[in-house]
Amino acid sequence: DYGLGEADPEVRGIINKEKERQFRSLELIASENFTSRAVMEAVGSCLTNKYSEGLPGKRYYGGNEYIDELEILCQERALAAFNLDGKQWGVNVQPLSGSPANFEVYTAVLNPHDRIMGLDLPHGGHLSHGFMTPKRRVSGTSIYFESMPYRLDESSGLVDYDMLEKTATLFRPKLIIAGASAYPRDFDYPRMRKIADAVGAFLMMDMAHISGLVAASVVANPFEYCDIVTTTTHKSLRGPRGGMIFFKKDPVLGVDLESAINNAVFPGLQGGPHNHTIGGLAVCLKHAKSPDFKAYQNKVVSNCRALASRLMELGYKLVSGGTDNHLVLVDLRPLGTDGARVEKILDMASITLNKNSVAGDKSALVPGGIRIGSPAMTTRGFSEKEFVTVADLINEGVQISLEAKSLVSGSKLQDFMKFVTSPEFPLI
Ligand code: PLP
Repeated sequence: DYGLGEADPEVRGIINKEKERQFRSLELIASENFTSRAVMEAVGSCLTNKYSEGLPGKRYYGGNEYIDELEILCQERALAAFNLDGKQWGVNVQPLSGSPANFEVYTAVLNPHDRIMGLDLPHGGHLSHGFMTPKRRVSGTSIYFESMPYRLDESSGLVDYDMLEKTATLFRPKLIIAGASAYPRDFDYPRMRKIADAVGAFLMMDMAHISGLVAASVVANPFEYCDIVTTTTHKSLRGPRGGMIFFKKDPVLGVDLESAINNAVFPGLQGGPHNHTIGGLAVCLKHAKSPDFKAYQNKVVSNCRALASRLMELGYKLVSGGTDNHLVLVDLRPLGTDGARVEKILDMASITLNKNSVAGDKSALVPGGIRIGSPAMTTRGFSEKEFVTVADLINEGVQISLEAKSLVSGSKLQDFMKFVTSPEFPLI
């Protein structure tokens, strides 16, 4: 048995290069994070060898006594992390990632061609919430279900709940989806609950981006109002790549969510669970109960606010005028540049963020904004002071994009590499 370096120097070499890239980059993609060594140890363990189709105590393969113990522990920790009573809420920890988790919910509670309403992708929603263009049903969700997205009020940058209510009254969806990939504010869950109740729809929250913030109670709690809550596990929650589905145990609209969702995960859409991921997730969820995790999530938000304030001081327009969570969405259109150009220039200086549509954009390929997130660099130890520097560096990149000048030596963008690779900000 060889270690990776001996068995496959080529793959080892690529991993080494990627690790070095992660170390020297300013990682500002809002959906990314650096998970812990303990999580990675579980993910890289013998748990990957085992087949365990089914649920604890009800498996289709032998030899699952320890896998059962692990999955039960993971379920208990998932409920504890979000302060849920196991009599009222259940959880499935087997979804392979966020998009499969969402599709599993849809197949659990909907029939083909039932109607759904999620936030439109160009307004901050996620593909898996039913994205389609006038020409094409892009996501599987919009191919198999009838999607009528709701949108933001373009002047405030906030969800247009009045329009959602009006449209829902006419469209009569069976499922309304809260949650987003690029929305810097909390959702109004009480209002969405009212709308869902008025039209007889299930209310689901996809908290993928903010699940760490929810666990630490630094944003509003979707569990108080929603029937189903899905999440990825690798964003602000800082676990391994994976997904979870939380469901109410009492029937909702005559549907037993527990059996419908468990059956949609397996045998509906998945086979054997990724037990190494479930192991890593259990480790992450234990950490989510610690004071250290709560302090981290508070810092994610205060750092993001510091970034937002500095950007506004520099004259930038932020969608919704600021942030309550881990991300800001900068509208670059008033400056006469675009997200694609700025992303490219910053990438050349190892500042990693992403171009993002802002409401009212004409082109998805050349969107008018950039999305900036604080979770990853907060994990590396950045505080508000460093995030002010981050805003200044981004500003430098935007100015370069405006002046179309090449990166000249002596530019602050080049200095930042010395800054980010100092021992003060270790990777893991
Ligand atoms: N839901 C939301 C809100 C997301 O932002 C994402 C990914 O960014 C997903 C779901 C999908 O997760 P995955 O990429 O793990 O399928």
